[in-house]
Amino acid sequence: MEIRRSIAEAKEIFYRLHRHPELSGQEFKTTEYIKQVLSDNDIPVYPLSLNTGLVAHLGCGKPVVAFRCDIDALPMTEESGLAYASEYPGRMHACGHDFHTASLLGIALTLRNCLPLQGTVKLIFQPEEENMAGARQVLQTGILDDVEVIFGLHCCAAYPKGTVISRPGFMNGAVDEFHIDFYGNGAHACRPHQSADPIIMIASFVQEAQTIVSRNTAPFHPVVVGITRIGSGTAKNIIPETGFVEGTVRSLYPEDRRMIKERIFCLAGGIAANYGGKADIGFVEGPPATNNEASWVALAEKIADEQGLPFTKAPDSLSGEDFAFYQQKIPGAFIQIGTGIGPMMHNPAFRADPDTLNDAIPFGVALVKAALVALR
Ligand SMILES: [Zn+2]
Ligand SMILES: [Zn+2]
Repeated sequence: MEIRRSIAEAKEIFYRLHRHPELSGQEFKTTEYIKQVLSDNDIPVYPLSLNTGLVAHLGCGKPVVAFRCDIDALPMTEESGLAYASEYPGRMHACGHDFHTASLLGIALTLRNCLPLQGTVKLIFQPEEENMAGARQVLQTGILDDVEVIFGLHCCAAYPKGTVISRPGFMNGAVDEFHIDFYGNGAHACRPHQSADPIIMIASFVQEAQTIVSRNTAPFHPVVVGITRIGSGTAKNIIPETGFVEGTVRSLYPEDRRMIKERIFCLAGGIAANYGGKADIGFVEGPPATNNEASWVALAEKIADEQGLPFTKAPDSLSGEDFAFYQQKIPGAFIQIGTGIGPMMHNPAFRADPDTLNDAIPFGVALVKAALVALR
């Protein structure tokens, strides 16, 4: 298929996906639709035991290159005012995953016309990015075991249309989350000596957790320990039995991740014991930091140059991206593309300019082809 036709078809795909967003783990119709587009174009899909999402492929033999998009939407109501806005309150493609899916389908349709390829391209339509579960599900199938380089593309509303953004090394942060229940002993507020007060435990924890960054972290290592939610109590005259704190941890280096987890357990346990209570600590390890290999970022920059797209170094960020799970096993690069400056991702007014597909699809096609050549 001529590339202009692939782009036109990808735009229609984008509008349709945008109208019909599905939440993480619920992408059943989206998966069916992607399968339909692929089968209409004779692009085979691997038989995998994924609940939602799929992996397709083009070409055969070595080398093997993978390109990943994500397909899930967010639980929020769209306020973009677009003619093709979500038809469902409480569901919106506010992170541009519909744009990523349309881009990868456009890349697939174009490559389909370039057969035979000089190797294999695996096309990953990944579910459940927003809850950070999907990449691990795809990896567990083993379908990526022979992949030599992996690319991921994400839109970005902070740059003009067609700007290519990446950087060697860390590009996003590792994301861990914690929930701590403090158990004390309730009493009448006028008899504090008969209580073990969980509110005192929470207050101490909130204070002492700040010392993880100020006293335990090397000053040149970026780390966030954020307490974002606390709760306890029912009335002014009751010392409650329990209370909780929740928060998020962002970091770049694995040694910082380990240290912060250890300190959270140590502080929470110590504080609870100090005030006569107990702490029950839940700690969920999310993705590590995305970590781009310099040579693949350089290739992306070269392709951007050749395509007349401006390339810019990604700014420092500790936002999370589960593409990092792939990079623990496979070298590669996470790349963003500017989709027009406007309200950012996860905002109800977010929009990705569909005309960016004019840039994203040729860029992706050229990148994949160049990677196949580079690996020979
Ligand atoms: Zn998102
Ligand atoms: Zn996203």
